[in-house]
Amino acid sequence: MARIALHTLGCKLNFSETAALARQLSAQGHTITEWDVPADIYVLNTCTVTHQAERKAHKLIRQVRRRTPAAQVVVTGCYAQLRPEALQKLEGVVLVASNQEKPRLAEAINAIARQNSFELPLERESKWDFWITHSGEGRTRAFLKVQDGCDYKCSFCIVPQARGPSRSLPPEKIIEEALRIAEAGFKEIVLTGINLGDYGKPHGVSFIKLLQGLEAQTPSSVARFRLSSIEPNLLSDELLDFVAAHTRWAPHFHLPLQSGSDRILGLMRRRYRRKLYEKRIEAILQRFPTAGIGVDVIVGFPGETEKDFQETKRFIADLPVSYLHVFPYSERPGTPAANFSNPVPWPERLRRSEVLREIGLRKKYTFAQKCYNQPAEVLLETPNEGLTANYLRVHLKTPRLPGELVPVIIGEEAKPIIQGWRGNEN
Ligand code: SF4
Repeated sequence: MARIALHTLGCKLNFSETAALARQLSAQGHTITEWDVPADIYVLNTCTVTHQAERKAHKLIRQVRRRTPAAQVVVTGCYAQLRPEALQKLEGVVLVASNQEKPRLAEAINAIARQNSFELPLERESKWDFWITHSGEGRTRAFLKVQDGCDYKCSFCIVPQARGPSRSLPPEKIIEEALRIAEAGFKEIVLTGINLGDYGKPHGVSFIKLLQGLEAQTPSSVARFRLSSIEPNLLSDELLDFVAAHTRWAPHFHLPLQSGSDRILGLMRRRYRRKLYEKRIEAILQRFPTAGIGVDVIVGFPGETEKDFQETKRFIADLPVSYLHVFPYSERPGTPAANFSNPVPWPERLRRSEVLREIGLRKKYTFAQKCYNQPAEVLLETPNEGLTANYLRVHLKTPRLPGELVPVIIGEEAKPIIQGWRGNEN
């Protein structure tokens, strides 16, 4: 039996797939170890969304080989899917598996561990199946993948090539997995996907039907459901009404904006413009005045002028949202935008990111202020720290057991945690 270390880069889907792989390997009798201790096999699940994510993969593989020269390295994930040749030639790499091959990867790793050599039980040309997976954080929150792939064609995005077409499992299969998660003692389930709101292909069952099924068929020990990122054009009133009508569903929404300039949104080939985005935020706040609302933004997209950036900055500064995820644009070979003219110089991309990150920090602070004196339930991840349903991270004065759901008044028993905030709190 081998000691196997696994590490994940990138999104929640990757994390849930690594967790599923770890469970399979453990069931085969292998010992799962931490990444930074000696192991026989290292499995790296990579990301390709930015150039930095790819560089990180190379760095991690080099570090592993330096620390444990005899180690065998298996690489999978989106970078492995798109650029296998860049990874195959690295010292120590014995297998590069695509995303399509992930469901059978445990078999291949098992073969490597047992024989030190193997017949590759993988098929490069295999079709895009759906591998149902979940990952968990300390038996508190589980991330359940309900949708994979994307049919959109945003000009900057490499994900559709790395993860294939939009597809999802029918509700009954997802409910089975949710019941397993409940059985394992998790209190919160986060539904994840690449384009979550596009749930329903190819079986035709709507996303609302999935939510209704989960609501009706999971035990009350699952105290909370949360939705991960949803495209603004897919966040329907029907979906918001469902969340409003069912107390287990968290009033927390993450809506990628990407740009506050309609001209740039057009170049990005996004399926909405700022008017629609604004209306969706209004629709959320009408139903949930203290909803947690997260926003993704890309700055320095090719052709983004100072005027476009100022438009984005003003738009975001005026949006009543609670936190921002800011990304400097990163060229992805193979995407249309990588060949667009007028690239923004890197120092300027970084400067624009900094400007928005400052605004994001202030948003977090304002959101926390808005929650003061409000009752909330905190799901504890550590004895003192946890998240409310509307995604406010708080510190509890009196420690309790991790995994407990604790009723509090924000500002009294529980103080908001705002990482990086150095401003005046009064
Ligand atoms: S919606 Fe656009 S940004 Fe999101 S995964 Fe699909 S193509 Fe990429």
